[in-house]
Amino acid sequence: MWRKLRIIVLLMILVTVLKQTWLDKADLDWNDNFYVVVYPINADGTPEVDRYIKTLTRADFEPIAEYFSDEAKRFGLNMRRPMEVQLGARVERRPPVPPEVASALKTIIWSLKFRYYAWKNSPKVAVTPKIRMYLLYYDPAIHNRLGHSTALSKGRVGYVNLFGSQAYHKKNAVILSHEMLHTLGATDKYDLSTTLPVYPDGYAEPEKSPRYPQDFAELMGGRIPVSDTQAEIPKNLGQTLIGDKTAFEIGWLKSTLKSTGGK
Ligand SMILES: [Zn+2]
Repeated sequence: MWRKLRIIVLLMILVTVLKQTWLDKADLDWNDNFYVVVYPINADGTPEVDRYIKTLTRADFEPIAEYFSDEAKRFGLNMRRPMEVQLGARVERRPPVPPEVASALKTIIWSLKFRYYAWKNSPKVAVTPKIRMYLLYYDPAIHNRLGHSTALSKGRVGYVNLFGSQAYHKKNAVILSHEMLHTLGATDKYDLSTTLPVYPDGYAEPEKSPRYPQDFAELMGGRIPVSDTQAEIPKNLGQTLIGDKTAFEIGWLKSTLKSTGGK
């Protein structure tokens, strides 16, 4: 009896996971725009971050929607606004922290916990979002660096560490946009040990001659390569581009061989 019940439950979980995987792939046809919601969280509990979160408006996230509009146009996408970013209510409960050293099992357990968390902590917004990003804001006066952000394509949820200060808005937009593309299946294109973008896919303009310095960072490559061994963090989205491989992964290009005709 118990054995049968267990098998039924396992089968139900399997069907749900398969269905979600299928749905996640099916909606990458870009016939509809992606509604994103960002939920601010005061990650270090300081009054400074409280104050900062109160200043946030939807307009603060508009440059991200505009960036994706411009990039989609370069790839010939027939959609004026591929992404719409909505500002959700502040969320009090913090999401489960991703494992520091990611073993396969730990990552799976964390991703299930995180998806469960997202299911329980999603205040309603005007349009039901397909992508949910949890923005954990830290006070830059206390922290001098941020932990690693991460996002899941299964369930389309992101865990994003950011500095809670106006001075960081433009850099935050780069981090958030990078993580948003992870939720659509884009992969990292930098070397995890050196943080250097990987040639050619992590380069915004791999064909550029001379190759260095590059003028842009590929969004998933993360940095602007200035030489074989050095790369700089982009200051804003204007210093980044989406490369062919990333465009292919998110369904903007049918093949990575097709030239985009531009930079
Ligand atoms: Zn990444």
